[in-house]
Amino acid sequence: MPLPVGHALAGIGLQRVWRGLFFRKGWHDALFCVLLANLPDADFLPGLLLGRPNLYHHGVFHSLGAALAVALLAAGLFRLAGRRAVPARRRLWPMAAAAFLILSSHLLLDCFAVDHVPPFGLPLLWPVSGRYFIASRPIFLDVTRSADAGDFFISILSRHNLAAALREAALVGGAAFCLALWRAWRDRRRPPPPG
Ligand SMILES: [Zn+2]
Repeated sequence: MPLPVGHALAGIGLQRVWRGLFFRKGWHDALFCVLLANLPDADFLPGLLLGRPNLYHHGVFHSLGAALAVALLAAGLFRLAGRRAVPARRRLWPMAAAAFLILSSHLLLDCFAVDHVPPFGLPLLWPVSGRYFIASRPIFLDVTRSADAGDFFISILSRHNLAAALREAALVGGAAFCLALWRAWRDRRRPPPPG
């Protein structure tokens, strides 16, 4: 699994593509996309409460089925929300599609990371299949961490994980930068609004 820095950069990169889809304020929109991109790792929380952080990690919450359910739920809540912070042009399916792709970016990065903790990989096709998938040629390093809740967070602060974070920042940050450039180029080519 990549660190939150890699997932956050993926979320920011994708936010540049659908800028302003969820919130009017740019930083609200970016923050929401960062949260979505990291959301599957919330499956650490029940295990942390039970003293074994890895207990439910890389379970069904790391699947395309869960991503689809969460994306539809999030888009439905936005559609219902009458808050002024939400763009007036909010539409269910574009928001659901964007949320699904942002959540799926998490699964994609996780699939391309070294995994030394069983079960290796992700149950990508749950609930259709419980089979675990992982790339045969990983791009990202594994994240070393304690299996005990007591020293879980402190164990993440290691030289190995710093190297993992730097690799994620270079690769995912580079891809996010390219997406931002593409969006800026597309905006420049778009004709100005009439009037
Ligand atoms: Zn993950």
